[in-house]
Amino acid sequence: RHQCARSSSVCHAPRARRARTQRRASSARAQGSASSGSSATDSCASDVHFWQHAGLGPWKICDKTALGHESGGEVIAVGEGVTNVKVGDRVAIEPGVPCGKATCNFCLTGQYNLCPTVDFYSVPPMDGTLTRYHVHPAGWLHKVPDSMSYAEIALLEPLSVCLHGTLRAELRLGMPVLITGAGPIGVVQLLCAQASGCSPIVITDLSQERLAFAKGLVPSVHTYTVDTKKEAQETAREIVELFTSVADMGVEVMPAVTMECTGVESSIAVAGYATASAGLVFVIGVGKSHINIPFMEFSTREVSLKFLFRYRDTWPRAIRLVAGGVLDIKRIVTRTFPLEQAKEAVEHSADRSTFSVKTLIIDESD
Ligand code: NAD
Ligand code: ZN
Repeated sequence: RHQCARSSSVCHAPRARRARTQRRASSARAQGSASSGSSATDSCASDVHFWQHAGLGPWKICDKTALGHESGGEVIAVGEGVTNVKVGDRVAIEPGVPCGKATCNFCLTGQYNLCPTVDFYSVPPMDGTLTRYHVHPAGWLHKVPDSMSYAEIALLEPLSVCLHGTLRAELRLGMPVLITGAGPIGVVQLLCAQASGCSPIVITDLSQERLAFAKGLVPSVHTYTVDTKKEAQETAREIVELFTSVADMGVEVMPAVTMECTGVESSIAVAGYATASAGLVFVIGVGKSHINIPFMEFSTREVSLKFLFRYRDTWPRAIRLVAGGVLDIKRIVTRTFPLEQAKEAVEHSADRSTFSVKTLIIDESD
C-alpha cells in the first residue's frame, strides 16, 4: 500500500480490494478482503530501511515480509459479523492493531498506540500492506468519502503522525514555530502548522531542494539551510535572528515550539538552543538509541521535551481535514509508480542522488 523511504516516502493507494477485515478488539475475527478496484500505498523511510537493512531498531526480518503501511484500497470481501464496511467501500488502512484486551491499560485508556503487543502491519512478524490483496481487521479500516483520491487515502498515515504531533504540541494561532527537517514528515508538519495558524514558521533542512519544495507548498514559510559544520548554538542563533527579522517587531522572537522532524542529534541540539524559554521541543524524528542533548539548556530555561509514537484516533479527523479541503496533502507526492514497479519505487525513494519527497504506488488493475 504504501511504504516510505528515507529521503522520500512512498505511499500506495490501492483500491480497497486488499483490505483484510476483522472486527476491532472483538471476538469475531471477521476477515474481509478488499475488493477489486484500485489501491495505493506510499513508501516511507522505515520501509526503505527495512528493505535495505533487513531490519529497523529492534525488529529483524527473518523471512519474507511485505513492506508498506501507508495504504488504502477497496473492500472486496468481508468476514462474518463485519458491519462497519461493505464490499465496494473505499477505505484507508490504519496499520497498527492493538490487543484490545481488558488487561491492557493502554488499550483501556484509549492510548492504544502504546499497547505493548500492538500488531503493526509491515513490522515483523506482520506483513505490510504493499500487496495487491490484503486482509485487515475491519475495525481498523476507515471508510472515506468518494471525493478522496487513493493518493490522499494513502497519505492519511503520515498525516496521522503529524496530526498527533500537532495536537500533542498544542500548535496555536499566531505561534512562532520552527520545523526541523523538510522530508515527508517535515512538510506534512508544515501543512499542519500552517492550518493551525502558526506564524511565523521557519523550516530547516540540509537540502536546498527540499526547502524549495517546502516553500512551493507553503509560500509564507521561511527556510534555513543547515550547515552541519557549524556549532548547534551558532545555527540556533541564526535561526532566532531569522525569526526576529521576519517578525520585524523590534524584539527578539524565538519559536515557542520546535517540531523536530529529523531524529538527528545535532538537530535536536539546535532545537534546544533555538526554542524560547518555557517552550517545547516536540520530537517526531527517531534516531540512535542514545542521543546527547544540551541538558542544562533545557533545564535552566524550562524548555520541555516531548515525544510521539505513531498516532491514535487520528484517521477520522485526518479524513475530515483532507475531504474538507483544509489540507491539500496530495501535493507532497513527487512521483507515482504502478504496483508492478514497486521495487523501482522503493529504489527511487532510497536514491539520494535523485530528488523525491513522497513516492506513490498505485494499483489500478482489477
Ligand atoms: P526523511 O529522512 O525523508 O527526512 C528527514 C529530513 O531531515 C531530510 O530531508 C534531511 O535532509 C533532513 N535533515 C537531516 N539532518 C538534518 C539537520 N541536522 N538539520 C535539518 N535537517 C536535517 O524522513 P521523514 O520520512 O521525513 O521522517 C522524519 C523522521 O520522523 C524520521 O526520523 C522518521 O523515522 C521519523 N518518524 C517518526 C515517527 C514516530 O512515530 N515517532 C513516525 C514517522 C516518522
Ligand atoms: Zn493492548
